Amino acid sequence: MKRFFLFTLCLSALFSCCPCAMNGPKVVAHRGFWKCEAGAKNSIASLNNAAKIKAWGSEFDVWISGDDSLVVTHDSKHHGLPVKSTSLADLRQHKLDNGETLSSMDQYLQQALEWPELHLVFEIKTPSVTDSLYEARMVPACAEIVKKYGVEKRTTFIAFSLSACEAIARMMPECNVQYLNGDLSPKEVFERGISGIDYHYEVLKQHPEWVKEAQELGMTVNCWTVNSATDIEEMIALGVDQITTDEPTLAQKIVKKSR
Ligand code: MG
Repeated sequence: MKRFFLFTLCLSALFSCCPCAMNGPKVVAHRGFWKCEAGAKNSIASLNNAAKIKAWGSEFDVWISGDDSLVVTHDSKHHGLPVKSTSLADLRQHKLDNGETLSSMDQYLQQALEWPELHLVFEIKTPSVTDSLYEARMVPACAEIVKKYGVEKRTTFIAFSLSACEAIARMMPECNVQYLNGDLSPKEVFERGISGIDYHYEVLKQHPEWVKEAQELGMTVNCWTVNSATDIEEMIALGVDQITTDEPTLAQKIVKKSR
């Protein structure tokens, strides 16, 4: 009985310092799982592929077009056209690498409804120089579309823009929000009402203490874009909650082995 009590005590101590100690970090496919046949970054095919390999989450990048449509694409320009000032119809004239038409956010979330287990890691893309008029169009549109499809509970918003993170956290208190930029301590992020960090793995290597600091504040810790076995192992050892990677099947194997 005494031994059992000690065992239980040790387990609870382990979980109190690292909630992911038993199962290891959750794997997020960066821009979907696109490194396979007919895959392309931010395509519907790569969203489906992420779900099929049972990744915990699938990350995707979202801009708002000149006619206020949310579109799934990474760069500020699509085939040379500035996304934020070009209509959705004009953007869709140029296909993705796998032949798919650029997805509107409506199409993307309609497809995501087919995969209810898949967590959605929704990057709110913003211009590199802060553009408050753009953010005033973008952030409420991101909140509305997540509400429209009722996927609040399985959505994490991520953004490099601190003001976009603060705004979406105010609008969507039921969603996790992770700040990407890596220049603030977890406490500084927490004080701004933001519930998580998603930092480059080199930042977490330089500040390993930030993982525990964040988790003790009840925040989640994600990291990007962790592709080599060595770096994946190092992030597991640090105790992060999520790993975002272009190599989700490799990460899944390493996480499984680490349990
Ligand atoms: Mg992204």
